Amino acid sequence: MEISGTVGVLVQAGVAWYCPPDFLAFSASFDRLEAQASFQAEEAVVPSETTLHTLKERVKAEVDRLAPELLATSQFLHANPELAYEEFKAAERLAAALERHGFAVTRGVAGLPTAFTGRVGSGKPRITFLAEYDALPGLGHACGHNLIGTASLGAALAAKAILVPGGGEVLLVGCPAEEKGGGKIPLVEAGVFAGTDAAMLVHPSNRTEMVKLALGMREMVVEYFGKASHAAASPDLGVNALDAVVLAYAGISTLRQQVRSDARIHGIITHGGQAPNIIPDYAAARFYVRALDLEYLEALTPRVVRCFEAAAQATGCRVKMAFPSLTYHPYKPVYTLASLFQRNLESLGEAVDQGPVDKELGSTDVGNVSQAVPTIQPMLQISTREVTCHMTAFAEAAISERGQRGMLLAAKAMAMTAADLLAQPEHLAQVAAEFRGRGKDQ
Ligand SMILES: [Zn+2]
Repeated sequence: MEISGTVGVLVQAGVAWYCPPDFLAFSASFDRLEAQASFQAEEAVVPSETTLHTLKERVKAEVDRLAPELLATSQFLHANPELAYEEFKAAERLAAALERHGFAVTRGVAGLPTAFTGRVGSGKPRITFLAEYDALPGLGHACGHNLIGTASLGAALAAKAILVPGGGEVLLVGCPAEEKGGGKIPLVEAGVFAGTDAAMLVHPSNRTEMVKLALGMREMVVEYFGKASHAAASPDLGVNALDAVVLAYAGISTLRQQVRSDARIHGIITHGGQAPNIIPDYAAARFYVRALDLEYLEALTPRVVRCFEAAAQATGCRVKMAFPSLTYHPYKPVYTLASLFQRNLESLGEAVDQGPVDKELGSTDVGNVSQAVPTIQPMLQISTREVTCHMTAFAEAAISERGQRGMLLAAKAMAMTAADLLAQPEHLAQVAAEFRGRGKDQ
């Protein structure tokens, strides 16, 4: 979308999507357990801790049973790294696994060929797991998305084992392009997450922490059009587009002093002229505006726009502004959901870092999902503290024994959290109340 000399609003088109529900075949050996759970779902009776314990043991055993398949899948993804929107092998591997295990699969969702969904069960609640599977240019799976995709697959397959007809639904959403392009944003806009009561994914990290915030982000491109002239012989006849970019840059640097401490505005000059002896008739810059609060991000954007406009006015250039990519929303945490997950993870023997919330924040398209439905994205340590994601050593961690074990742990803890939500509706009510009560910020 493009605007000229005025504040613009980015409008993103969405495609409506839906996929038919599916029913399950149940193994006879769990008849009694299912009968109990079914009774509880229909009668809205809170199951005893013993029943919940049994359900959690069941999902843990299911992940253990599926471990060889999950490990092979994670290794396959790692050995076949694919960039954003090119994840054909990874998406097919995960979608085919879901299909083999009785999920109704839709390939190609919201106009994205490498997005997919798998659905099983019926009724409420709907528990959604998010799979990521894109890699980084030159670095392979240095963000460990092979583990994210496979852990969510494992969690979905394990949660299926405790579903009862009419008592809940499991949805796995295959989300392409986390690293570049914000693949979840069109999925959110197409309504793929509508009706989800709780969404989760686990991200490998160098620290195990339950809540990691993320900044909202909007990209802006500004172009100035002036008039070329000889820089020495006839500067008075030129209109200097580079001057406009420099003034805008300086204006934004001044503005930065007057913004909240969680906001970030940073940019580069992409075009600055052809030669020193020509007054530049064209110059351009690219900026990111970020904030921890969506409303603040929206309020900040027109202030940046005014810096661009003021520079045009001062120099006599024509200005064109555009928002070329989708807006990343800040991550909206749901502490009640995160604490259920934490209890499950700790019960599996993983220590959670209780230190202060990390202040080194970036942006992720999980933020957009978190603004639409209650979402958690806990971080699980698979490397030493010195090795951070997007390092070559992190790609090695993502295929190490610790990484593989982390993937299985994440699958178990997510499926156990699904058990909490499926078996004890009061947790769902708390999650929904916290989500509703929280604004568009943290
Ligand atoms: Zn990542």
